[in-house]
Amino acid sequence: MNEKNNAKSQKYPYLVVVGAGLFGLTVAQQAVEHTGARVEIIDVRNHIGGNAYSYFDESTGIEIHKYGAHLFHTSNKRVWDYVNRFTSFTNYVHRVYATHDGEVYPLPINLGTINQFFHAHYTPEEAKALIASQAGELAGKDPQNLNDKGISLIGRPLYEAFIKNYTAKQWQTDPSELPAGIIKRLPVRFNYNNRYFKDTWEGLPTDGYTAWMQRMIDDPRIHVSLGVDFFDESQPFNKRALAEAGVPVVYTGPVDRYFDYKLGELKWRTVDFKEVRYEESDHFGCPVMNYSDADVPFTRAIEFKNFNPEREEVEGVAGETSGEADFVPGKSVKAGETVVWQEYSRAATREDEPYYPVNTEEDKALYARYAELAAAELNTVFGGRLGTYSYYDMHNVIDMALRAYETQVAPLLK
Ligand code: FAD
Ligand code: UDP
Repeated sequence: MNEKNNAKSQKYPYLVVVGAGLFGLTVAQQAVEHTGARVEIIDVRNHIGGNAYSYFDESTGIEIHKYGAHLFHTSNKRVWDYVNRFTSFTNYVHRVYATHDGEVYPLPINLGTINQFFHAHYTPEEAKALIASQAGELAGKDPQNLNDKGISLIGRPLYEAFIKNYTAKQWQTDPSELPAGIIKRLPVRFNYNNRYFKDTWEGLPTDGYTAWMQRMIDDPRIHVSLGVDFFDESQPFNKRALAEAGVPVVYTGPVDRYFDYKLGELKWRTVDFKEVRYEESDHFGCPVMNYSDADVPFTRAIEFKNFNPEREEVEGVAGETSGEADFVPGKSVKAGETVVWQEYSRAATREDEPYYPVNTEEDKALYARYAELAAAELNTVFGGRLGTYSYYDMHNVIDMALRAYETQVAPLLK
């Protein structure tokens, strides 16, 4: 190494990762494991974990997923083996219920939903025939939008009960103007299986999301700086300084922001959470209650406690008398109280947390132009959901980060 490079390596680590979400953490972990490189992770937020971050509510010990409910599921063996190096998982199996017209139904739409809705006792074959005849109004057509796709999957009555209004609340757009792809995640089942995911493995990290992610970067060669914005030139790990010093960067922030929005803004939707506390041990009897009708303004409500039924309920207070809480965060929760978050979806401004890419044809075309600019940044690897303007689940992001490390990041570290 010549003197110049030597000086460079003293001032800067070998790799800077922008964003302490699962993409950034996975790349950082891999870089250290395979090359021994020193890695600096920066995040503008004051915690690691990105959108998968969770914390334990002070007064109840309930684990709250700060950016919305996160359920881990995957059929990818490599990802499953990888995540199990850092955490074990509970045997939680995701199930969702929906309130429609004063009744509670199981989701995804299955034989139980169909029979309850039609007050019937159809067999699987009878239900198939019924739905086929109801979906028949669009027979032979390739559904081009969410409205048509919904009707062709489940027929108009079920579509109007469970999909139409929920989707309109979620996207604030007429379903006939939304891409059909949005509801491919919601299958119809002609049996009573109401498991939400079809993946081989699912569960929640036993000690919580944040403990899992902390273990990923528990290495003296990884340093994390929180509350640090990549675009703030008053801090050393900023875009301009790192480019000038030739330090490789993995960038997981919004791709349009990286280029100062010079081609225009990519559209996102965000969610506002409204917290409601109940002096009850269990409010819904399940972790997720969707609200299918237009008269309830929120899309769904999450009762976090019910994600972790394995955590014991203990009587007592939250450190009010002895100074020490009677519950142990991650192991037990306070009895007689529960925390519910209602979700209200709306269009995101630059100041909001970007959650769901809107992904209209116009957005896709704009992203393609940003992707070209990104490809020309030879010392920067763009990744994660913000860096690639995509809706990915956690297992997708980890898989992509493992592959991006091998194909894009490792060559930069040589
Ligand atoms: P992020 O987690 O968003 O991390 C990016 C990080 O970059 C952030 O921490 C951000 O602060 C930081 N950053 C951005 N700009 C800058 C900057 N200028 N300087 C410094 N740092 C910056 N997945 C599932 O598998 N199961 C689920 O049930 C599930 N539920 C979800 C529910 C909601 C409401 C949402 C929004 C997502 C859900 N996901 C779920 C998806 C999951 O959150 C993502 O797959 C995963 O968190 C993405 O990781 P990431 O590293 O790409 O991005
Ligand atoms: N959806 C719906 N009714 C429901 C649940 C979902 O119509 O009760 C539709 C809606 O269009 C939503 C999409 O299915 O945007 C995906 O929902 P899912 O719950 O799978 O995804 P998430 O919102 O958790 O990302």
